[in-house]
Amino acid sequence: MLIGAHADDDALSHGTLAMLQAHGNQAYVVTLTTGNVGTQDPNLSRTQLAQIRRQEELAALAELGIPSDHYINLGYDDGLLEFEDRKAVVENLVRWIRKMRPDVLFAWDPGRNYQRWHKSDHRAAAYLAADAARAAMWRLLFEGQITQEGLKEYMIPEYLFYNDYDHEDENTIVDISEFVEKKVNAGAKYVSQFGPGWKNYKVNLSEAELKAMKDLTRNHMRIKDGKPIEGFRYYRGLPDALGK
Ligand SMILES: [Zn+2]
Repeated sequence: MLIGAHADDDALSHGTLAMLQAHGNQAYVVTLTTGNVGTQDPNLSRTQLAQIRRQEELAALAELGIPSDHYINLGYDDGLLEFEDRKAVVENLVRWIRKMRPDVLFAWDPGRNYQRWHKSDHRAAAYLAADAARAAMWRLLFEGQITQEGLKEYMIPEYLFYNDYDHEDENTIVDISEFVEKKVNAGAKYVSQFGPGWKNYKVNLSEAELKAMKDLTRNHMRIKDGKPIEGFRYYRGLPDALGK
């Protein structure tokens, strides 16, 4: 399971998610906000943008072999995650963790022994995911989910924390050579997020624009020892000690 703030936060892990899905695992993406703010196009409403972002995310995941019912959007407003009722958001995430019982949680890195800076929604999502992972294991927290909804407490055993800059804390490098094309094709689906659709959204791109979108993802690809990679801070153990 991956928890992100926006449709496209999962793009940092697309090669790894495609690899996991291709190897018989079930990858699920939980996105906290609808992404209904981040555009420079003066003609898009919040409702239109939220619908576009959903379609783009589903199309991107399809490129990775991840089916549409593996995408869960919790519907919060873009840009304001840190002002939401934290208890309600954590409860919501705990419910999904207890339902899905993931073997591994992908999340924004909340920081190892210190609070890591991310821009607002990413910062909030990092801590909300970590706090939810911790809360999910305690039977008496959000007890109604257990006594009334038929769920059971659950402790996520492993974590892969992702980051969009400063990769110093990473201890796990994934060679995504075999999944580069899937990652590039998925990245090109985020037309409203970057590229020509950011300032002036359009449904259909020209061939040249589509190529430019793919080149953007290709140019941002991290390379190590000549191979395309994705990097993570891997952690295994009690959620209480995620910063160790
Ligand atoms: Zn984001």
